[in-house]
Amino acid sequence: MKSPLLSVENLSVTFNHQQKVVDDLSFFIYPGETFALVGESGSGKSITALSVLRLLPNNAKINAEAISLQGDNLLKRTEFELCKIRGRRIGLIFQDPMSSLNPVMTIGSQIEEVLDIHFSLSKAASKARVLELLQQVEIPNPEKRLKDYPHQLSGGQRQRVMIAIALAGEPELLIADEPTTSLDVTIQAQILALLKNIQQQTGMALWLISHDLALVSTIADRVAVMQKGKMVETGLPQSVFNNPQHPYTRKLIEALPSINSCLNHSYQEKLPLLLVK
Ligand code: ADP
Ligand code: MG
Repeated sequence: MKSPLLSVENLSVTFNHQQKVVDDLSFFIYPGETFALVGESGSGKSITALSVLRLLPNNAKINAEAISLQGDNLLKRTEFELCKIRGRRIGLIFQDPMSSLNPVMTIGSQIEEVLDIHFSLSKAASKARVLELLQQVEIPNPEKRLKDYPHQLSGGQRQRVMIAIALAGEPELLIADEPTTSLDVTIQAQILALLKNIQQQTGMALWLISHDLALVSTIADRVAVMQKGKMVETGLPQSVFNNPQHPYTRKLIEALPSINSCLNHSYQEKLPLLLVK
């Protein structure tokens, strides 16, 4: 058995000493695996991800046994040391690329900025790497597009740029928090397929966060279901989706409009249906 890349042990988070929004959560992510954390809005998924990167607001308090990256407890790292991990060993993409991208900088310079922070490349090597990253996220005419500003791109292309920025650090783990929620269904499937494809090329681990169990079940190796800060179910996507054990998981499946059309199909049949649609 491989040792985990990321291990979160007994994580709890509170805001202003009130009720726990993450409650004694423990899970592992193995190298190269796709792990999906699923739950309805407000269940504590983003707070869990932000806890790992120690990016929580000041009024949040973390309590945990350990949050370890390859056995190294990040809770013991200083802020300075964490800066070298964020964006480098652990990449992050969010739901809304427009608010994460800088509107007054070309997309090429935004990718280059990340390369400058983490690697010492010559100007030419840096430009070549920007082009390579844009190709990797399948942006057509990268040579021309790198001079574009975010508003000149479609929503799907902007999310591809966000992925390129996250990949620029060559992370071992990419956290994708609702990466397709602001996109329409066809584009959602394309972005998920792209993430999976890149994961297979690079061997990085992918931690997908979503409210949509059906969607992530198509590409995840393992699924964990979260409700009110607690992990209520975890397992292979086929079994969690086709044979949910916890009432909340069943509720989650019934509540999702995107899967009602798939309920009569088996998991295998649903796969191409969701990815090709
Ligand atoms: P999810 O990502 O699953 O939709 P979140 O992790 O964003 O949920 O939020 C979990 C809970 O934490 C929610 O109940 C939310 O209201 C609360 N929360 C998030 N951010 C803050 C904050 N800055 N101050 C107080 N409560 C917050
Ligand atoms: Mg969230």
